[in-house]
Amino acid sequence: MTTNLTRLAAPGIASLPAYKPGKSAEEVQRELGLTNVIKLASNENSLGPSKKVQEALASGGFDLCRYPDGSGISLKRALGEYHGVGIEQITLGNGSNDVLELIARSIVTSAHEVIYSENAFIVYHLATHSIGATPVVIPTRDHKHDLAAMLDAVTGRTRLIFLDNPGNPTGGWIDKNRLLSFLAAVPEDVVVVVDEAYYEYAASLCADYPNSIGFLADFPNLVTTRTFSKAYGLAGLRVGYAVSHPDLADLMNRVRQPFNVNSLALLAAEVALEDQEHLRRCVAMNDQGMQTLTAAFAGLGMEWFESIANFVSFDLERPADPVYQAIMREGVVVRSIAEYGLPNHLRVTIGQEHENAAFLDALNKVLAAG
Ligand SMILES: *Cc1c(COP(=O)(O)O)cnc(C)c1O
Repeated sequence: MTTNLTRLAAPGIASLPAYKPGKSAEEVQRELGLTNVIKLASNENSLGPSKKVQEALASGGFDLCRYPDGSGISLKRALGEYHGVGIEQITLGNGSNDVLELIARSIVTSAHEVIYSENAFIVYHLATHSIGATPVVIPTRDHKHDLAAMLDAVTGRTRLIFLDNPGNPTGGWIDKNRLLSFLAAVPEDVVVVVDEAYYEYAASLCADYPNSIGFLADFPNLVTTRTFSKAYGLAGLRVGYAVSHPDLADLMNRVRQPFNVNSLALLAAEVALEDQEHLRRCVAMNDQGMQTLTAAFAGLGMEWFESIANFVSFDLERPADPVYQAIMREGVVVRSIAEYGLPNHLRVTIGQEHENAAFLDALNKVLAAG
């Protein structure tokens, strides 16, 4: 008897491919027999979190047999103060991925449509499909969000719109005025999620990049998501959050797992938030790295997508996969973005100075070899 349990898949799940993460340094080391591999594939901050986070975690004092504070009250207070919002507006998540899914699960059913851009963050797709809702995927225009087409796509069944700002993997963004006119045109019972995972980098690289938390008072249907995974250097611990109208936060809190953020993550995030000095260092490193890499691309006569995040996608004008493989054999892992319809591009995360230099050495060597 042959068993086929895949046929039990819920609607929306059957056609869903599993998420493929960037390769880890260990994986590449093992596969290629290399000793020193630099990973610039997943937009992590390799400078890592504040030293104070390391100290707080090392000093222990955790009663690990106890459940974490399920309401995350201490971190929420710190975030509330930091953003000038009430704690009843904050929802914590096991990474912002968790929060993105909570929003969808708390308001969307299989009768609804969810709008997002082609090439947008894969998690919007996962969240939509896992509910069995209908994804309405809007083609990009010059690889940017086509906001007019997104508005045209709104119907009576639309419940949610996901916007990554800036977008991954292009790094393109929606400026303040365009975002405000978009929000003003969306019906009030359609929730707009603005995913600001790269906020800290973007705000430094671009003067008219909007902090959408400031728009919440005017647009109760807006949800802003942020994360500690990128500029704060805590991707491994998984903490993200949403800031929204208290009603939406209340709904999200009803569907979340009671202890979705663990004790270490709660403490680390709070300490990381306090160390704004370290955050500024990380952001400054990124500003500098972005300059170094784009100047090098220009020197090589290569095009790239202008980005205000901690990554940049560059155009090889030929299938990128052989270059990706060759750079990896030189000990540097970047990211193929063929699955985003960009088979001639590669995405590189901006790292520390020595990592950027190693990447450029590898790239130069591979391109020189033809
Ligand atoms: C990296 C990233 C996130 C962050 O996800 P976490 O779950 O917080 O680690 C969110 N959105 C986008 C577009 C990203 O690229």
